[in-house]
Amino acid sequence: MTGEPLIVLRQASVVYHPGQPDAVEALRGIDLEVRRGEFLAVVGANGSGKSTLARLLNGLLVPTRGEVRVAGRSTADPQARWEIRRLVGMVFQNPDNQLVAPTVEEDVAFGPENLGLPRQEIARRVRTALETVGLWERRADPPHRLSGGQKQRVALAGILAMEPQCLVLDEATAMLDPAGRAEVLETVARLHRERAMTVVLITHFLEEAVRAERVVVLERGRIVASGRPRELFDRPDWLERLGLVAPPMGRLAERLRRRGWNLPPGIVTVEDFLAALGLPGPTGHVPRDRAVTP
Ligand code: ADP
Ligand code: MG
Repeated sequence: MTGEPLIVLRQASVVYHPGQPDAVEALRGIDLEVRRGEFLAVVGANGSGKSTLARLLNGLLVPTRGEVRVAGRSTADPQARWEIRRLVGMVFQNPDNQLVAPTVEEDVAFGPENLGLPRQEIARRVRTALETVGLWERRADPPHRLSGGQKQRVALAGILAMEPQCLVLDEATAMLDPAGRAEVLETVARLHRERAMTVVLITHFLEEAVRAERVVVLERGRIVASGRPRELFDRPDWLERLGLVAPPMGRLAERLRRRGWNLPPGIVTVEDFLAALGLPGPTGHVPRDRAVTP
C-alpha cells in the first residue's frame, strides 16, 4: 500500500527567535519519512512541536538546521516553493479563517483560479472536489450558513481542487462538535482508502489517530516513539507522562488487567474491546486469536 518516500525530513530542527533571549527550540533533529499513500498520525501535547512540524511539511517554514525534501526537492529551494505548496495541502484548525469567498463553489475555485487553469478545468475540479466531500448540492450557499464540519469539508475541497499528493491536517477537528469531527475524519479516511491519498493527521486526541497506519509521538520537539496506534495507545501511564490521554477503552482495559483480567494488548476502541471479550463487533467478525474469557 505504501511506497516511496514523498516527504523526507533529515535532522530537521527549528528555532524561533534564534540567538535572542526568548529563543525556542521547537523541533530538535527530526528524522521522518512520509511515504506515498501512507496514513501517518502525529500526536503530542500542546507545545510539543506539532504545528511547527506541519509547517515544515509544505515549506511554509524552512528548518533552521537539517533539511526537508518533498518529492525530491528541498523546501529551501525558492524555485520549488509553489510546487511544494500545491503538492502538500494543509487544513488548519479554524475553518472560518480558511474560507474567503461569498459562496462555497467560489471558495473551492479560488486555488485553481490562482493556478491560472482554463475555466473548464476549474469547473471540473470544483465539481469533483465538492462531490468528494459530499457538498456539491450546497455549492451556491454562503459558507457561513454551513455547520463547522461542513465548513471544514469545504476547506478540504479547496485543497483537493489543487490536486495535492498529500493532505496535512493540523488539529483540523479541534473546533468541531462530535458530528463535525466524525464527518471530517471519515472523509479523510475515505480519501486515503479509496484514492491512496497520503495523509498526515496531527492531533492530540488519540481516538482520532486510531485509523492511522503509523503514529509518531512528539515530546518537546523530539520524536520519542513511533509505531502502530494499537502498540502505543494502550499504555495510559506512559501517555500521561507525555501529557496525552489514552482513549477510554485503553484506560478501561488497563484497569481491568490490573484487577487480573487476562486481556490482550492493543485494546483502543470499543470494537477492540468487544473482540477481546469474544463478542462480535459491528462487523460481526471476531478474530479468533483475540478471544478471551475474563
Ligand atoms: P503544538 O502545535 O504541538 O502545540 P507548536 O509547534 O505550536 O506546538 O509550538 C512548539 C513550541 O514553539 C512551543 O514552545 C511554542 O510556544 C513555540 N512557538 C510556536 N510558534 C512560535 C512562534 N511563531 N514564535 C515563537 N515561538 C513559537
Ligand atoms: Mg498546534
